[in-house]
Amino acid sequence: MELKKIYNQELMTHSANPMNKFELEDFTYEKQGINPTCGDDITLRVKMNQDIIEDAAFSGSGCAISQASADILIDLIIGRTKQEAIAYCENFLKMIKGEEVSDEDLQSLDEALALKDISHMPARVKCAVLAWHTLENVLKEEA
Ligand code: ZN
Repeated sequence: MELKKIYNQELMTHSANPMNKFELEDFTYEKQGINPTCGDDITLRVKMNQDIIEDAAFSGSGCAISQASADILIDLIIGRTKQEAIAYCENFLKMIKGEEVSDEDLQSLDEALALKDISHMPARVKCAVLAWHTLENVLKEEA
């Protein structure tokens, strides 16, 4: 199995020491995301200032991939506009599903590129996309 390759340094660092995992107290939107297949259960909190994501954090529990993915996502979206964050989510979801994404869009995902190999592991795809799906729902439905 190729599992070892998936748990690269980037992911290990984020899952062992997630800087964005805490109970954000000042927030405008909150949404829970659950992946029953694996038992991942996260809650995403976002503070919007008009169109800008001013702050965000996640809490909850789950496997290394779901935790690292949530941490990486939040690094990427703080300070961005709602539209930029939605674009990140869409590109990330495409990448994980193995769909075509332009080089420019891939590069913009920065650290999240560390999760690209997950697209070859169907059982872990839901872990990787959990936080991104949850954020996309928050931004499209509520914010
Ligand atoms: Zn998981």
